Amino acid sequence: MPGLDEVAIARLARARDAHLLRSLRETARRGGGLVERLGKELISLSCNDYLGLAHDPRVVAAAHQALDDYGAGAGASRLVTGSHPLYARLERLLAELKGTERALVFGSGFLANLGVIPSLVGAGDLVLADRLCHASMIDAARMSRATLDVFDHNDLVHCASLLRRERPRHGRCLIMTETVFSMDGDRAPVEELAGLARAHDAWLLTDDAHGLGVCSSRAAEIQVGTLSKAVGGYGGYVAGSACLIELLIQKAHTLIYTTGLPPATIAAAAVAVEIIRDEPELVRKPLENARVFTAALGRRPAESAIVPVVVGTAERALEASALLEEHGFLVVPIRPPSVPAGTARLRFAFSAEHDPESIARAAALLLSHGYA
Ligand SMILES: *Cc1c(COP(=O)(O)O)cnc(C)c1O
Repeated sequence: MPGLDEVAIARLARARDAHLLRSLRETARRGGGLVERLGKELISLSCNDYLGLAHDPRVVAAAHQALDDYGAGAGASRLVTGSHPLYARLERLLAELKGTERALVFGSGFLANLGVIPSLVGAGDLVLADRLCHASMIDAARMSRATLDVFDHNDLVHCASLLRRERPRHGRCLIMTETVFSMDGDRAPVEELAGLARAHDAWLLTDDAHGLGVCSSRAAEIQVGTLSKAVGGYGGYVAGSACLIELLIQKAHTLIYTTGLPPATIAAAAVAVEIIRDEPELVRKPLENARVFTAALGRRPAESAIVPVVVGTAERALEASALLEEHGFLVVPIRPPSVPAGTARLRFAFSAEHDPESIARAAALLLSHGYA
């Protein structure tokens, strides 16, 4: 077998040749939708902090206070001594916002999916996933050892036909989708999928990562989400019935065998969720800003805070991103395998902090250079 470095070098060279090499670029996020890269200040149109809550003084103050009161870390798994009293408040707020009996907080959205899905289905069961579901959902379904089948994006007819064909041959059945698709910004027909689930004796799981705080959906029996996007902090959650949560506390490995969140992170999230609950005008802004952008491009109104501008090849996406950066905007190119080959794109994510003039300027740049 070739040496480890030899294998790595060959694989990296292949990725570089295909314009698919990824790298970590140092980026310091400031408040006000701004980031700093290589000493240069840019307007970020790539962050998921849709409401600017990561820098909200009330959120930051709550984190400071918890840090002073309770220290830097949780010290153990939630099942041991890491279930800080602050969790109860955050989970009550999340359940209230999601319209469920209870909620359960995990270390991240990724960990929530990895914990929830294999706790509910296993060998002999069936998972039907929208083709564009997030990697964490697909990885979780594979980990579960259930049969994984994929239906075409937002295609209820295809989903129903898979249910008719595959459902009778399996034990339990879980349908899963995102509420707002992270790379496309469109929304799933959640109510209709919930109807299909009921009709075919299946459960529906949604991942509301990009919905909560912008255009959340509450129609699914099992609602996963994250505290790292509109909530502005870190962590993940699942909201559902009291029995579901009790089961997950017994079963979910990514809850049981990992350390609890730092108290400061929980305190920050609780205040951020209260702001989402109490400030509907703030919650409306990301979508309004996204619609300023789609209007300037002459497109259909945005369905969420995310608007993709598909440019085709990975190379072209890199060029478009570099052009915007020259003009003071940070818009990260999204390339395969995050999106299908030939659909490399700039993924614009609008926040409450952006101003319409800058948004119009970015749109004009894309139009004048033939990217949109
Ligand atoms: C971002 C994202 C996640 C991961 O959430 P983290 O809290 O960042 O781990 C999971 N699912 C979807 C759909 C996402 O967009």
